[in-house]
Amino acid sequence: MIKIDKKYCPENHLCPTKRICPVGAIKQVAFEAPTVDQAKCTDCGKCIRTCRVFKKA
Ligand code: SF4
Repeated sequence: MIKIDKKYCPENHLCPTKRICPVGAIKQVAFEAPTVDQAKCTDCGKCIRTCRVFKKA
């Protein structure tokens, strides 16, 4: 399971990590911190290696 650590997200740009998620589990509303759709996430770990906002829960 992936959790979001909002304190590392400046919330001032489109989330670049969205593009690297192979199953489209990362969602973002405007420039807000991203969220992870746990039903879609396969726990591959790519987002964790890309941005510290994403943490293993
Ligand atoms: S762990 Fe993989 S599948 Fe889950 S949100 Fe991160 S990149 Fe997407």
